[in-house]
Amino acid sequence: MNNSSPAPSQSPSPAPLPDRCEVLVVGAGPAGAATARAAALAGHDVLLVDMQDFPRDKTCGDGLTPRAVHALSRAGALDLLDGRPTLGGLALHGFGGSVHAPWPDHGAFPTRGTAIPRTTLDAALRDRALAAGARGATGWKAVSVQLGDAAASGTPVESVTFRAGHGARQTTRTVACRFLVLAEGVRSGIARQLGVQWLRGLVHGVAARSYCTTPFGADPWIHSHLELRDADGVAQPGYGWIFPLGDGVNLGCGALSTTRHPAKVNVKKLLVSYADDQRDSWQLGTPERVTSALLPMGGAVSRVAGVNWAAVGDTAALVNPLNGEGIDYALESGLDLAALLPDAARSPRGLADVWPAHLRERYGDAFSLARRLATLLTMPGLLAAVGPLGLRGPLAPQVMGAAARLMGNLVTPEDRDLTARVWLGAGKLSVGHDRFWHPESRPLFGR
Ligand SMILES: Cc1cc2nc3c(=O)[nH]c(=O)nc-3n(C[C@H](O)[C@H](O)[C@H](O)COP(=O)(O)OP(=O)(O)OC[C@H]3O[C@@H](n4cnc5c(N)ncnc54)[C@H](O)[C@@H]3O)c2cc1C
Repeated sequence: MNNSSPAPSQSPSPAPLPDRCEVLVVGAGPAGAATARAAALAGHDVLLVDMQDFPRDKTCGDGLTPRAVHALSRAGALDLLDGRPTLGGLALHGFGGSVHAPWPDHGAFPTRGTAIPRTTLDAALRDRALAAGARGATGWKAVSVQLGDAAASGTPVESVTFRAGHGARQTTRTVACRFLVLAEGVRSGIARQLGVQWLRGLVHGVAARSYCTTPFGADPWIHSHLELRDADGVAQPGYGWIFPLGDGVNLGCGALSTTRHPAKVNVKKLLVSYADDQRDSWQLGTPERVTSALLPMGGAVSRVAGVNWAAVGDTAALVNPLNGEGIDYALESGLDLAALLPDAARSPRGLADVWPAHLRERYGDAFSLARRLATLLTMPGLLAAVGPLGLRGPLAPQVMGAAARLMGNLVTPEDRDLTARVWLGAGKLSVGHDRFWHPESRPLFGR
């Protein structure tokens, strides 16, 4: 598989870095940009550093569900939807059936989804952080972290060393900080140095995306194909997506994997077969810019915070295991973390307890349940057995309507309808089960 983690920028001489800042954010994807903007608006002195120059690409489906649109609104970026497609729900296909499930009419979330290429979205979010007062630097890769003396409250991060350039033109620079925010995405090298371990034995994703031309780029649905076959017509584990972008589509496919049931599938090859399969109905061009990457999911990391540092977005494995969405959780976690900084500054334990507790409270139940269901889906043959029940028959629209809502995590603790109550109750049971039977999963969001 391609390593989707891009090389550091090739800029000959990136702008110099300052010696110190109050809030140092490493990584300027949605998580880092949202943190930086919110922290800057709250009056903090913020430095937002990325190893790449912007605009930059990121392997992604580019899809934004109502939860993500809501998060964009919180991040002050709702205007980015102007001129973008309005996607009214999920069209689920497979096992001889097809169901269109509109987004639920939920007071807390809009009824609109959309899709925006990450090259555009991420650059725009970063621009907003800079407009809010954050200082920005690109072309600098964080390579090491320096710790201060351990105290009763824990060992604080003192500074981060960055590297730019290559060979004889390589330079390093160290930036001291009061708070460090790790928004490095999935490949999180600095986070690893601080003890953030991705628990790969738990369910995670492997996925590939591409861009295709089509005259149907303005289609108003997010399409998901739950039954994929390879070039020989053999059923493969995984699912496909087509996200209309207006002037084309993002077409991709992914599979869920665990140590017990690893996804033995070449997602790039599967993508090509999937595109072949869809070519006639969408009049698709050849898939271009095919890239693949891993998706950490469901908070499956061992540690997310220390006394003056915290992980957000993919670095904290904040991706929904049931639909592979992470942009919304990246934005939400960045915004929430920025809001907690004043409290952390006053507390002797800083972020060490408050951040994992916040993530557990906000996502613990839903992610535990979603991980459990996604793990079930890695069992060979299970989807083929239950898929026809959901996608065919008189109750298919109701079943898939509920599934679209739950897969998109469009449920809040205040919801009182039956579907939500069952889901919220099952989430609590799932966490209880994790605690009792799977102590190895206790470190999720732990210290
Ligand atoms: C194939 C695929 C399809 C997906 N489809 C969707 C989808 O349709 N919708 C959705 O919501 N989510 C989707 N996701 C998930 C989504 O892409 C991520 O959850 C999201 O990008 C997380 O944002 P982030 O800010 O945490 O990390 P990123 O967007 O990865 O940003 C991390 C940034 O950190 C920088 N960086 C990394 N290391 C360093 C370093 N050492 N020094 C300096 N800078 C550094 C990188 O250059 C990068 O800019 C998909 C993922 C994959 C792989």
